[in-house]
Amino acid sequence: MRQRIAVIGSGPGGLAFARVLHRHDHPVTVLEREHGPDARPPGGTLDLHEGLGQLALDKAGLLEQFQALSRPEGQAMRILDTDGTVLRDWRPGPDDRAHPEIDRGQLRDLLLGPLDVQWGRGVTQVVPGTPDGVLVHFADGRQETFDLVVGADGAWSRTRPAVSPVTPHYTGVTTVETSLDDVDTRHPGLARLIGDGSVAVYGVNRALVAQRNSGGHVKVYAQFRAPLDWHANLDLADAEAVRSSLPTLFDGWAAPVLDLLRHGTAFVHRPLYVLPVSHTWPHVCGVTLLGDAAHLMPPLGAGANLAMLEGAELAESVATGPGDLDEAVRAFEERMWARAGRWAKITTAGLERLVSPDPAEALALFDQVQPS
Ligand SMILES: Cc1cc2nc3c(=O)[nH]c(=O)nc-3n(C[C@H](O)[C@H](O)[C@H](O)COP(=O)(O)OP(=O)(O)OC[C@H]3O[C@@H](n4cnc5c(N)ncnc54)[C@H](O)[C@@H]3O)c2cc1C
Repeated sequence: MRQRIAVIGSGPGGLAFARVLHRHDHPVTVLEREHGPDARPPGGTLDLHEGLGQLALDKAGLLEQFQALSRPEGQAMRILDTDGTVLRDWRPGPDDRAHPEIDRGQLRDLLLGPLDVQWGRGVTQVVPGTPDGVLVHFADGRQETFDLVVGADGAWSRTRPAVSPVTPHYTGVTTVETSLDDVDTRHPGLARLIGDGSVAVYGVNRALVAQRNSGGHVKVYAQFRAPLDWHANLDLADAEAVRSSLPTLFDGWAAPVLDLLRHGTAFVHRPLYVLPVSHTWPHVCGVTLLGDAAHLMPPLGAGANLAMLEGAELAESVATGPGDLDEAVRAFEERMWARAGRWAKITTAGLERLVSPDPAEALALFDQVQPS
């Protein structure tokens, strides 16, 4: 009899897991809390690296479709001083496919393809070790059992407590995200400032980053060190109030840079939480985690890539391995912990340097990662 396998969460990690199993004709139940793929805005753009996210798509048989959809020109990166001076202006070569950008919504649709996701199935608890397997409790009071439950349910995972008591902690850095629409026609000056990819400006303990998505859409991220309640006197739902007050945190920065905030539409507060670097747990038969649920780290271009590769690798070993599910999961966990631990160290150190008392640190990091 084929094992009953469930994955909780239809983010990049859960979908990569399900899609690779599907490619190998292995049944999988995908449980997602949201009520449909478009229930929430999908978020900004993701860069998928060769050897990480792109390798996962290859394992899913989707690399060619990704190449057709993705934006290699989106790898371009410009760094400005706070007075607007261009400090770096890096552009990819014509054949550079190291980490092209793709809109999250496009990636989600690509991975979803023929998958039959069970929408509106919020999980409240996962209980391993019952006589019939791993028991999953749902928000509507229903229950189901499986042989393997993979928690790909993100930062605030409801699966994690089944294997680990650890919860995310605040990094001290927060983000306020906003968007610009039709940037090329409505804000041509800002469109030139941003270029084909991203523009970043680093000041003392703060940064402003704008990233072009497809269709003239731009996501803007204001990042700064602050206590969690920094907005106690500001209603973040009041876009007009945020539009006028947020630029005061970037006092003295060039007007065109601050226009990225002044023209923002709605504002979303995203404090950056992380799990401890090298988070592991004693193996629990029938339950594992992947992606942010296992190793939430600062958002510096690794999280979705790791989640996807982990999902693809676990699915491949379940579908093509010798058949011992528990052995496949144990081997997967060892590999995931080693790789994610390395990335968690890199991204934790990266956040310290990008949102730093010394803005020269950010430039030095860029020069290390992207030598001219
Ligand atoms: C601003 C920003 C920019 C980023 N840019 C990049 C980038 O360029 N490259 C990169 O690699 N990473 C990037 N990341 C990180 C990346 O977004 C995450 O690491 C990635 O989404 C993790 O994927 P995941 O599948 O593990 O979890 P998620 O994407 O969080 O997906 C979890 C899914 O589980 C569902 N879920 C949650 N709880 C339940 C429940 N109880 N029951 C059922 N379903 C549930 C959620 O609805 C969701 O669909 C960025 C992050 C941020 C915040």
